[in-house]
Amino acid sequence: MEIEEQAALTSGADFWHTRAVAGVPAVMVTDGPHGVRKQVVGEGLLASEPSTCFPPAVAMGCTWDPELVRRVGAALGDECLAKDVAVLLGPGINLKRTPLGGRNFEYFSEDPILTGTLGAEWVAGLQSRGVGASLKHFAINSQETDRMRVSADVDERTLRELYLRAFQRVIQRARPWTVMCSYNRINGVYASQHRWLLTDVLRGEWGYEGVLVSDWGAVVDRVEAVRAGLDLTMPGPDEPGDRALADAVRGGSLPAAALQTASDRVAALVRRAVAAATPGATFDAAAHHALAREVAGRAIVLLKNDGGLLPLSAGEASIAVVGEQARSPRYQGGGSSLVNPTKLDNALDEIAALTRGEVRFAEGYDDPAAAAALAAECSVAIVFAGSEEETEGSDRTGLELPAAHLALIERVTAANPRTVVVLSNGAVVRTSPWDAAVPALVEGWLLGQAGGGAVADVLFGVVNPSGRLTETIPLRLADHPSHLDFPGEQGHVRYGEGIHVGYRGFDAREQEVAYPFGFGLSYTTFEYSGLTVSTVDGGLEVRLTVANTGPRDGREVVQVYTSLAGSRVRRAPRELKAFATVPLAAGESAEVVLRVEAADLAYWDIELGRWVVEAGEYTVAVGASSRDLRLHATAAVAGDDERRPLTAASTIAEWFADPRGAQALTEAFAAMAAAGGGAMAPSAADPAMFAFLASMPLERVVAFAGDAFSPGLLAATLKAAN
Ligand code: BGC
Repeated sequence: MEIEEQAALTSGADFWHTRAVAGVPAVMVTDGPHGVRKQVVGEGLLASEPSTCFPPAVAMGCTWDPELVRRVGAALGDECLAKDVAVLLGPGINLKRTPLGGRNFEYFSEDPILTGTLGAEWVAGLQSRGVGASLKHFAINSQETDRMRVSADVDERTLRELYLRAFQRVIQRARPWTVMCSYNRINGVYASQHRWLLTDVLRGEWGYEGVLVSDWGAVVDRVEAVRAGLDLTMPGPDEPGDRALADAVRGGSLPAAALQTASDRVAALVRRAVAAATPGATFDAAAHHALAREVAGRAIVLLKNDGGLLPLSAGEASIAVVGEQARSPRYQGGGSSLVNPTKLDNALDEIAALTRGEVRFAEGYDDPAAAAALAAECSVAIVFAGSEEETEGSDRTGLELPAAHLALIERVTAANPRTVVVLSNGAVVRTSPWDAAVPALVEGWLLGQAGGGAVADVLFGVVNPSGRLTETIPLRLADHPSHLDFPGEQGHVRYGEGIHVGYRGFDAREQEVAYPFGFGLSYTTFEYSGLTVSTVDGGLEVRLTVANTGPRDGREVVQVYTSLAGSRVRRAPRELKAFATVPLAAGESAEVVLRVEAADLAYWDIELGRWVVEAGEYTVAVGASSRDLRLHATAAVAGDDERRPLTAASTIAEWFADPRGAQALTEAFAAMAAAGGGAMAPSAADPAMFAFLASMPLERVVAFAGDAFSPGLLAATLKAAN
């Protein structure tokens, strides 16, 4: 291929196609992630062919069910094949660093293991159909404010352990065909030209071989992007950029191999897609709608159910359904992921379909008085309330529900003590203090096109709720770990809370929350017993028995958290390491076996510049949420922690913390004292002297001691210690 042809292949033909060049045909890519948004040619950005609107990730994540997520991925793949789409632009796996993130509805969780595990299944399901995924947005794109310029300033340990860990997991488990770089800068450098991120880490360390595509419009400088390892710039065409690339190669400022590699990768992607294309393929819209309902039902989180108000009986005399969202659902967020659904259910009709009683409706937001009067006349009231502002491109301004919705909840609850509140929101809303007066609270997220039916299923017990929070619901916005460092200023957002993202931060500061990470109620009860933990392949095997001790069939989400007391680095009080969803019939019990890989126990050591599994006695806590830990055990992990050599720059404390170092230094100090340097010889036995000198590097002590601590003595001490 000519240099010009290579350059042309590395930018798009238009908004949604790669370029047909030198015998390499064009293929189509579309958004993603929770449906196939195939744009109608010649229409506006948001006009697209109908396709199934599955529950967005905010809801899908709450299923905590890898197998279910994989089925959604496969169904999306079938819809792509039917629409001749080669790559679907998803999943979005940025961490929910702040509850104000405008795009949180497109992301799974505030936890990297949960996010990475579910993201990998989504990719595996999609790609099992011969359709490529685009893992996005790589990386540290956890806010919309100033998203095209802001520098996310993050320390390396936080970057590795939290934000990149989710990407690493998906890449290594599921090998997505493409990865999409984000708009923002990372520690000052645009993601689209961040060589360390795109080449050293992604390809070098993680072994990624697919195509790196830009987010739409993320490339600032084509030559710098290709130099950093980016393959495909979208959208196109970009003739000036193509020319700049060809000129840079001809002029010698860009290695020819860099452009060649990028165009080869794009060509390989196209070949792969062409081989998988299935002309004439169709998809079963009714089956996909049913799947969307199943997932939505599994995603709903029952937050509160005082006195067992739920589930409602089909024989309930009269039901007041209030709130326009019952009739006009909010079921997805705004922006590039907006799907034109094949069908749209609403909760009002679906409730009517499941009850033999009378269903009466009031719009509610404009006239809470009428809604309250209606509620007073009915045997039960269901209020639909929700946020209205989740969209790509801007962050939310607060956590509060709209004032009209709050007023409605208050009036209806006062009018009928049997009131259920159903929420629709793409990221957490504040539930306190108003939830104290509400007996039953159902978190309905944005549930996709079949959400209305799923809500009815949960209200009437057709589905026993098993959704669990993937993000903490705080009591107040100001409590959130990210609060003081969001959304940043003057072009920078400092990730000041470091590794203490989400529940890690709430736990570390021992803060009360409204509903903790991992929380969700059921219509039945579960008991945990018989925890044993053993070490396997450097990691952990966790076994326990879970019993359904209540009256209904149900599903428990068993969560495993670890901690390490006395760790050399600061750690969150507990970190999610494994989970399993366990279906159990009433009265049934089952043994549950979970594995924690050694790599998932590792922390990123900034001194050594690598992952380290610290040796020690790990505490394993198993429970139904991050704050409902039912069983504890400990396990001794050997770790892969090599001894760190002691140097002249190591402090006295570091020397004495090491048995060989302590002995060598004690002997050296004795020699030093004998040579007249006694005043500087910190005896480990003298606590005051030791505390005073502990933070001094040995070389400074040597300098103070003058001739009493000779270069020869130092060399001998280092030799003896190491
Ligand atoms: C979004 C991506 C999306 C792309 C194409 C961008 O604005 O950030 O998530 O895939 O547009 O629509």
